[in-house]
Amino acid sequence: MHYIDGNWIDSDRSFDITNPATGETIGSAAEGGATEASAATEAADRAFDSWAGQTAYSRSETLYTAWRLMTERSDDLAQLMTLEQGKPLKAARNEVKYAADFLLWYAEEAKRVYGETIPAPRPDQRFLVMRQPVGVCAAITPWNYPISMLTRKIGPALAAGCTMVLKPAEQTPLCARAMFEVFHDAGVPAGVVNMVTASDPVPIGTSWLTDPRVRKLTFTGSTEVGKLLAGQAAPTMKRVSMELGGHAPFIVFDDADPVHAAKGASLVKFLNTGQACISPNRIYVQRSIAEPFIATLTERVAKMKAGVGSEAGVSIGPLVDQPSIDKVDRQVQDAVAKGATVETGGRRLTEDGLDRGLFYAPTVLSGVTGEMVIHCEETFGPVAPIIIFDDDDDILAKANDTAYGLAAYIYTRDISRAWRIAEGLRFGIIGINDINPTAAAAPFGGVKESGLGREGGHVGLDEYLDTKLVGWSV
Ligand code: NAP
Repeated sequence: MHYIDGNWIDSDRSFDITNPATGETIGSAAEGGATEASAATEAADRAFDSWAGQTAYSRSETLYTAWRLMTERSDDLAQLMTLEQGKPLKAARNEVKYAADFLLWYAEEAKRVYGETIPAPRPDQRFLVMRQPVGVCAAITPWNYPISMLTRKIGPALAAGCTMVLKPAEQTPLCARAMFEVFHDAGVPAGVVNMVTASDPVPIGTSWLTDPRVRKLTFTGSTEVGKLLAGQAAPTMKRVSMELGGHAPFIVFDDADPVHAAKGASLVKFLNTGQACISPNRIYVQRSIAEPFIATLTERVAKMKAGVGSEAGVSIGPLVDQPSIDKVDRQVQDAVAKGATVETGGRRLTEDGLDRGLFYAPTVLSGVTGEMVIHCEETFGPVAPIIIFDDDDDILAKANDTAYGLAAYIYTRDISRAWRIAEGLRFGIIGINDINPTAAAAPFGGVKESGLGREGGHVGLDEYLDTKLVGWSV
């Protein structure tokens, strides 16, 4: 069902939702198009003045209520996410907690949208700067984090006084629907948040991007689609926020503890089965510690259990669809043909009923070089490619040699080196001996072709605010 103007709208057309771990159909979602998209914009536009006109305290209270309800329903939301997206239940619970944090954080930040006064050049003049909501915002979200990618946009938009129309990924509309039930039950007024589901995103995107009433697009997904949508947003000069792909370097210097670094790499690389934009895609290890690093990483990865996410002990879920598993396998085969060694994994898993889903064995590849496709293409799967380096002088150039610029990781105990490398990396997020540099309070986003703008933190609110100058003669 779509959610438009505070109502659940059914459709005579629907599409099936499949559990990627079992291939089973678990439900269906309404097939929307340009008509529903336009109705959603109409509702969001109508609701805007009244929502923007509420006090910050009132909007904050609504967000607190949504956060409380979401927290009460967190176990159901996590179970649904595991069923629909495939990630293990523990990871789904972590995501729901992370997602709820955005509602709480922006319930707090709603009250801190400050303006300023500025000294003016004339004695009889005063300058006042106001911050006002940008208007109706369109959000298009991906399947890999099907709940947190919603709250990371809806939280700040609502706090700022914007209204929203949203299209979730075709693979995960049930998670989106469950979140819109939260907003409905929390008393978010009709028209303030609206959702249209579809298996074909194009008519909806086109409707929103060509509609002058929509003043902003906030998109999370691939760089390819992000570029297309940014182009479509240009003729009506919409503001855009883009959270796109990544190709994160993970650099382990010779003074790091190789066992600790390998543990970090195993945790962050295989998070969400590698289907994360901040997933390390190039693991650079300095030669003198490469052997213990590879041995520890391989030992940990070989023990990881793939399977249905609700089963105990499972830490590797399925890939989302057939093209994704084909892409991972193609990258691995290309690397092997060009001389890489498979330390563990390196194949699709089909035993013990795994053939019903789309499982790829968690894989460690050593001997990876710059000629291999995996070295330059986002993998989005459970493969850790290891590149050995000797000279720390050219590691920055190697790490920066990509069109992407989202996350990068460094392992070192040398504080000068950590500072120098962190400064030189052209990425938006740097982890220094840290594999989880993300939180609702922290700005998340990339540079170069990884995106524009930031989500989270107090700067995340700026994305939904216009700056207005009032000059005054006294
Ligand atoms: P995607 O193919 O770009 O899809 C993302 C969203 O865009 C989906 O809702 C999709 O709808 C929609 N879409 C696709 N083509 C469209 C069009 N022509 N007009 C309007 N909407 C369109 O990306 P994905 O495969 O779902 O997600 C994986 C990518 O997201 C990776 O590259 C990953 O790095 C990136 N990502 C980035 C972040 C970040 O914060 N930087 C976070 C998570 C993921 P359908 O589902 O209906 O196709």
